[in-house]
Amino acid sequence: MKFAWSVLLILLLPQCFSIGIHHGVYHYYSYNEMVNLLNELKEKHGKIMEYYSIGKTYGGRDIMVIKISDNVSIDENEPEILFTAAHHGNEKPSYQFLLKFIQYLCNEYDKNVTIKHAVDNAEIFFIPMVNPDGVENNTRKNMEPNNCIGENIFSVMRGVNLNRNYDIGWDEWKPWYFTTTTATPYGDVLLSMLGYPPEYRGEKPFSENETKAIKIFVENRHIILAADFHTGAGKIIFYPYGYTNRKPKDEATFISIAENVSAINGYAFSEAGKAATGMEMDWLYDKHGVYAIIIEISREIAPQEENKVEEIVRENIPACMYLINRANEFMKSPSL
Ligand SMILES: [Zn+2]
Repeated sequence: MKFAWSVLLILLLPQCFSIGIHHGVYHYYSYNEMVNLLNELKEKHGKIMEYYSIGKTYGGRDIMVIKISDNVSIDENEPEILFTAAHHGNEKPSYQFLLKFIQYLCNEYDKNVTIKHAVDNAEIFFIPMVNPDGVENNTRKNMEPNNCIGENIFSVMRGVNLNRNYDIGWDEWKPWYFTTTTATPYGDVLLSMLGYPPEYRGEKPFSENETKAIKIFVENRHIILAADFHTGAGKIIFYPYGYTNRKPKDEATFISIAENVSAINGYAFSEAGKAATGMEMDWLYDKHGVYAIIIEISREIAPQEENKVEEIVRENIPACMYLINRANEFMKSPSL
């Protein structure tokens, strides 16, 4: 009997230990929790908020767009802004922040004249979970099988890095050891063994459901300004280009946007400068003339402490309010 009790104790100990560790760990929204939240917000704030799906992922999840504006069901002649997050599914603070920002706009609209003015004079679009399959599986890439031998042996070969799949510099890949972009899923096995994140760019530009959906969405809108949120690189604002050292012709405007955002959230800023090919930011700017930036909001990919996530939210809500107002200025005077 004594022996049995000690075995039981040993079996139970790790459970107690893990319960202890997980106590107080920050909870990021799951995909289903996001959908429930969007339902609730639409019921309560349907006058200024709506959402809809622009496509399905390999895993059958919806790629959701949220629109916030006055007369939300009407396409008005107002500046359009696009906020995207979770191209990389494991970068959870990125979408968590956008969902908090959406809630903030909904809740403050009737109480805060500044917020009301911003919402009334813009059409604000959000795609908080570009890669919901990656969010649910806590992976950087999506969950496309890639149909290659050994995908079940090396799970890292599964999936495409969605922020390498846009049609901008996509062909300018180099062998895996020279760049962060790999041409085949096999390269990701080597990268992961060397401690680098998986980077497979896909079979061709826009080969993925998620990027295809964003392409069609953007082609049917007139987005003026955009910010794409990421984690893992510290707190820093990037502007184009990221696929080449070539300077954007609107460099002065980008620097002015980045400087202003930096003055608000306190982050550093820099040209992305040959960081990666096939990124949404470069594509939005180069093909659609959108003033697109990336905001990296955390050194840790997904911090577990609530105060760190709260800090990100606190830093970036005012920064995004600035971007909304800046889009409005562009609308009034396109040469700004
Ligand atoms: Zn990222």
